[in-house]
Amino acid sequence: MLPVENEIHHIISQMKEWLDVYRDMGFDPPPVSARKRGLEKTGAEHERVGEKRSAGIETLEDLEDFIGDCRRCKLHVARKKLVFGEGDPNARLVFVGEGPGRDEDVAGKPFVGEAGRLLTRIIENGMGLQRRDVYICNVVKCRPPGNRDPENDEIGTCLPFLEQQIRIIGPEVICTLGRVAAQTLLSDEFRITKDRGTWRSYQGIPLMPTFHPAYLLRNPGAKRPVWNDVQEIMRRLGMEVKRNA
Ligand code: URA
Repeated sequence: MLPVENEIHHIISQMKEWLDVYRDMGFDPPPVSARKRGLEKTGAEHERVGEKRSAGIETLEDLEDFIGDCRRCKLHVARKKLVFGEGDPNARLVFVGEGPGRDEDVAGKPFVGEAGRLLTRIIENGMGLQRRDVYICNVVKCRPPGNRDPENDEIGTCLPFLEQQIRIIGPEVICTLGRVAAQTLLSDEFRITKDRGTWRSYQGIPLMPTFHPAYLLRNPGAKRPVWNDVQEIMRRLGMEVKRNA
């Protein structure tokens, strides 16, 4: 096959896989593009994610069972453990990261490495919540080798699972951590340094995009903007924000 035919063949088989996952879960076909998903930014009314439309997958346990020992994309080859996500299934706040790193891959839990410990401090010391009070998950559920960015086909295959996690939990606020999560739930046009810190909407749910805690570890100067973003979330959730914090 010519390279271009190869590419088209690959794209079509990826789309087919994505549609198959939706059909198998009993859902409507997904929106065709991230931009389409972001329509609500222009004011269009979208169905509230909390509305149940599923044919059988009603709980996070159902979804985790459905995902099973997933081999739907190439990330399964090198992963040790699939990292589904953890926290309160009725959480008011959901954090969405990019994908498991080395520590998460070993533990099978999200954000347990150095960046995860920083996220836990933000939740517990900054917000005054317990980690178990929120829900924490990622765009892709398996570790990209060498912690590279997840590729489009991997994101495309795993995205229905994140969408269903959000639908099932029905949070009041979503906080995306880093560029990949924000671009996945909003739009490819999203630029993390320019666009973080302003309220967006994902399927009618207020979404606050902020920096990834791993970025914060490398750039301590980003702590102030992240803290500002976290305070915005707290206000939105009706939580008290200490004036001099
Ligand atoms: N980085 C992420 O994006 N997610 C994790 O779970 C850990 C590190």
